Amino acid sequence: MKALCYHGPRDIRFESFEDAKLQDDRDVVVKMERCGICGSDLHIYHGQGFSPDLGFCVGHEAVGEVVEVGRSVVQYRPGDRVMISAAVGCGACGPCLAGEVNQCRNNAMQCYGLSHRLEGCQAEAIRVPAGDFNLAKIPDGLTADQALMLTDNLPTAWFGCRNAGISAGQTVVVVGLGPIGLMAVESAFVLGASRVFAVDFVAERRALAAELGATPLHPDTAVAELMEATSGRLADCAVEAVGADASIKLAIALVGRQGVVSVIGVNQTANFDFPMGMAFFKSLSFRIGTCSVPKFWPELVPLIQGGRLHPEQFISHTLPLADGAEAYRLFDARADGALKMVMTA
Ligand SMILES: [Zn+2]
Ligand SMILES: [Zn+2]
Repeated sequence: MKALCYHGPRDIRFESFEDAKLQDDRDVVVKMERCGICGSDLHIYHGQGFSPDLGFCVGHEAVGEVVEVGRSVVQYRPGDRVMISAAVGCGACGPCLAGEVNQCRNNAMQCYGLSHRLEGCQAEAIRVPAGDFNLAKIPDGLTADQALMLTDNLPTAWFGCRNAGISAGQTVVVVGLGPIGLMAVESAFVLGASRVFAVDFVAERRALAAELGATPLHPDTAVAELMEATSGRLADCAVEAVGADASIKLAIALVGRQGVVSVIGVNQTANFDFPMGMAFFKSLSFRIGTCSVPKFWPELVPLIQGGRLHPEQFISHTLPLADGAEAYRLFDARADGALKMVMTA
């Protein structure tokens, strides 16, 4: 089969790769129909990946068709159209059974496409471990693009908002308006925010947030403008969807007393310079982590079916997998209006 593989910084190649095949009785092999590039894939692209491996297949978002099932798989048969959860659990331990996939005791924090440990989803076919647990059939009425957004980005945005404890009438600020940040803007309104402020350096992204009903802010003036707009109270909750040290600090500065800062951007800084004094005097809560994707499907599927959430609107480009290197280049450069990049088999 063919797949996109990482060979070093800014070196993603579409090349021949070992076929995805069953390695365990619980495995399922899925033929990729659509896959996405996630903001966190750019960490790998920039050479700040999650492992020192080279030559592994990248990507952790895909939907497709089941082509092969292991002997123990009971819920899926060839021909079923499925979405693959980016967060992978064993499906048998306590945390997995409680829906906390990311706390799995048997393969903690496992995700596709970070190393050779579990090959990625930007491939013509994907091996899914514990298929009965880590897959779901594409729900009725959802398009392939909507289902693709449910494999990682939308649940992460929603998780970020839930972690921020957004409640009715609150003022929310979202820092970083990539696809996940924009989905967090839409999610914050659905969760009852009265006002959402949206911060990004890129003017086009601020304009998209404004179309969703948010008040756009430039990072350089965000604190002063939010202070002005809220009569000095600042935001009740901040959702940070970049992961850079500066944007996390900005999120901390943008919440008022007893505010909650929820970080969903990936940050691997070993010695982050946390503004402890500001946090102390604001009595703020700081929450950070990764999303147990399937946990949020029961909430998100009806919200998409009911027309309350529209995650597919953030897809800017759909390209064939063979053009994956170009898709990464555009996405990294934020060129040509690049927002959510989708690739097809
Ligand atoms: Zn991701
Ligand atoms: Zn587990």
